[in-house]
Amino acid sequence: MSELVRAEQLTVAYAVQDGLFRRRIRAVDGVELGLARGEILGLVGESGCGKSTLGRAIVGLTLPSAGRVLLDGVPVPRRRPPGMRRRVQMIYQDPGSSLDPLRTVAQTLAEPLRKHSADQVAHRTRELLEMVGLGEEHLRARPRELSGGQRQRIAIARALAVAPDVLVADEAVASLDASVAGAVLNLLCELRERLNLTVLFISHDLAVVRRLCDRVAVMYLGRVVEEGPAAEVFAHPGHPYTRVLLDAVPSADRRRLGARALGEPPSPLHLPPGCRFHPRCPAAATRCGTAAPPEVRRDGHRVACHFAWQAQEV
Ligand code: SF4
Ligand code: MG
Repeated sequence: MSELVRAEQLTVAYAVQDGLFRRRIRAVDGVELGLARGEILGLVGESGCGKSTLGRAIVGLTLPSAGRVLLDGVPVPRRRPPGMRRRVQMIYQDPGSSLDPLRTVAQTLAEPLRKHSADQVAHRTRELLEMVGLGEEHLRARPRELSGGQRQRIAIARALAVAPDVLVADEAVASLDASVAGAVLNLLCELRERLNLTVLFISHDLAVVRRLCDRVAVMYLGRVVEEGPAAEVFAHPGHPYTRVLLDAVPSADRRRLGARALGEPPSPLHLPPGCRFHPRCPAAATRCGTAAPPEVRRDGHRVACHFAWQAQEV
């Protein structure tokens, strides 16, 4: 599989008020991440770790302060030409607020197609509805007349209207009931097969990521601390943070539900020296508090930890 998207040393910083002072924090800090064409990559981590900011930078909704995004190996300019903008689309957690409440489904789907003739728009709109498992009877509906699952299907259809290569889904099923969420996940799988779509699936829900994704990247305080094939990361997590996250997932083979409470992550304004995870890490040793960990690689799986894959049972 060829690489379609790459984040290269991608950094997104912004200013925040810290008491009397304005200070800059790096929500995303030197991230390296690639997506192969047609794969679904899960991006996980606690809220505030920079997942959404990274997603927005890949879509082009947030400008990087350093580093860059490449599409098919070509660096994307800071101001994306429309042809490039079209190729990466985003869907959000709450389709209720991302859809215009006054517009009908037909108007919402026609909006990205305004350069086309009326006939083309009508044809494409029907095709999009069929792709997301809805029918023509929904064309005249407004968002409030649709269920949460139907609204998310419309948001997906709207994102697909311009035939993108990449979909960034930010907590796309988090606000849906389990059965509805399952149906939307099945839809994403079908669309990936049918359109050879590449998906960056941002989620705090590891059970969902395990079911859906080919690969997983784990973020902590702006950095990717572990990345690899999903089956491999779930079976042999190499980073203590990933192990803590997995321990909190209820499943048949992992019964230690919520075994360890980590407490709140440190503020990005006051990043710990050395390994950023060390104040909360059950495996931390003295050097973790002073030296940034190296990235250790093994068969397409990488882990940023001084003790990667060691101390499995800490
Ligand atoms: Fe824990 Fe040290 Fe590894 Fe950081 S480098 S995750 S503190 S063991
Ligand atoms: Mg978020």
